[in-house]
Amino acid sequence: MGTHTSFSNCEKCGGESWLCEDTHYDSTEEHCLNENCRYYYVDSGTLKEEDPNAFDGTGFNTPEEFKEFLEDFNFKKCEKCGDIDTNHNEDSPYCQDCETEEEKVTNS
Ligand SMILES: [Zn+2]
Ligand SMILES: [Zn+2]
Repeated sequence: MGTHTSFSNCEKCGGESWLCEDTHYDSTEEHCLNENCRYYYVDSGTLKEEDPNAFDGTGFNTPEEFKEFLEDFNFKKCEKCGDIDTNHNEDSPYCQDCETEEEKVTNS
């Protein structure tokens, strides 16, 4: 029961894609994390029976919409490698991998 988020592969570019499934509404939402692709797929499942404004559709977000999506879901783009990730240190502009690398460099 509930909302389950995971990662899958974008069917358009093969890149990492954020997937959110809700077993209550039998809904699926997928957003490609490749900023050059921005493919999304939304199937609101049975939510549309309760909410006529529920969004269903597939296509490509504009760069602006993609940015908003990243902000809404607390994703951040690494300023070093360009990877888009959730597990960011709020104060760091880098992804965890790059941050670990930075530390190694400064410590050696
Ligand atoms: Zn994609
Ligand atoms: Zn990085």
